[in-house]
Amino acid sequence: MSWDLQSQAAQLKADHLWRELRTLDSAQGPLVQVGGRELVNFSSNDYLGLADSAELSEAMQEGVELYGAGSGSSRLVCGTMKPHAELEAALAAFKRTEAALTFSSGYAVALGTIPALVGSGDTIILDKLSHACLVDAARLSGATIRVFPHNHLEKLRKLLETAKGRVLVVTEAVFSMDGDACPLAEIVELKEHHGAWLLLDEAHAVGVIGPQGRGLTAALGLENRVELQMGTLSKALGLSGGYLAASRQVIDLLINRARSLIYSTAPPPCLAHAARAALDIVTSGEGDRRRETLHGHIRRLSPGAPGISAIVPRIMGDETRAMEASARLLESGFLIPAIRYPTVARGSARLRITASAAHQPEQIQSLLQCLAQLGLSD
Ligand SMILES: *Cc1c(COP(=O)(O)O)cnc(C)c1O
Repeated sequence: MSWDLQSQAAQLKADHLWRELRTLDSAQGPLVQVGGRELVNFSSNDYLGLADSAELSEAMQEGVELYGAGSGSSRLVCGTMKPHAELEAALAAFKRTEAALTFSSGYAVALGTIPALVGSGDTIILDKLSHACLVDAARLSGATIRVFPHNHLEKLRKLLETAKGRVLVVTEAVFSMDGDACPLAEIVELKEHHGAWLLLDEAHAVGVIGPQGRGLTAALGLENRVELQMGTLSKALGLSGGYLAASRQVIDLLINRARSLIYSTAPPPCLAHAARAALDIVTSGEGDRRRETLHGHIRRLSPGAPGISAIVPRIMGDETRAMEASARLLESGFLIPAIRYPTVARGSARLRITASAAHQPEQIQSLLQCLAQLGLSD
């Protein structure tokens, strides 16, 4: 087999699946500079508008002043610094768990956690729409993988009945490309009935849903019934990094076994310091105000059946159609990339519109007008 990268690229282009990086010349925010143009950004995961906030920029600077720029080594050698420990204590309190562990990304959380806890002879049962990092981690673990159709409780129950070994159910609180939630209370009942554990990825729920933005587990009062609560610091929290909140026993074992933690340099201490500040904002009255603004925008973007999350997709199906719609929106000054295979299934290409508390009501209004002109109203 030859490398022939050119024909691989040509095939992707022919299938309308070719992707390119786009460089922003400004900070993140509702208005961004791209190639000399100012665009209204409806594509970031900065749901509370914290990425470019004065509060987090100041916290980052304070972190640099106190602890310098780099962490020097991996967490187990000498890279665990006071801000990492303080952030983990704050995350455990936020998630109402005994302990929490931070990683350099949400992706690294999945890759470190799942293979550390299950392996050959065990079974992982995944929702079909689970994020790529959960799928990759399941494969890496060597456990048997079973998949149930999106949010399909009956199929999940059947798979639980026949699963072998230790059984881990994996799903998301809010699905990243559809913006809907999982039926968490029912899933918790099912996994408990079968003695399975649950890993819940709250990447898009944290900061957005639940009292103080503490996620879907908190909204439903299920914090002490979800064994593995995973999340990221890179979406509503406005920074980067990921965490796992769980029992002390789980966290201690991960410190010994999670390879993406052990064999990777600790994130810069200033980042942990700023993430701690982000948690303080998210759980404060200021966080409540930002969530209120965000949910107002969400209601206006989908008046028929307002979603619970900041993700408001317009599913177009065909890849070409989604690309064309995205290009038309770009001409009108809106940055909303088309999401295509392999991020979503073939033939379910979409515009993934995301709202932020930092958007102005006029920006929501003009997007709605533009969508209507393009025949893309909900
Ligand atoms: C973004 C995302 C991740 C990965 O988090 P990063 O911190 O960006 O690596 C994991 N799971 C879901 C559902 C996500 O949307």
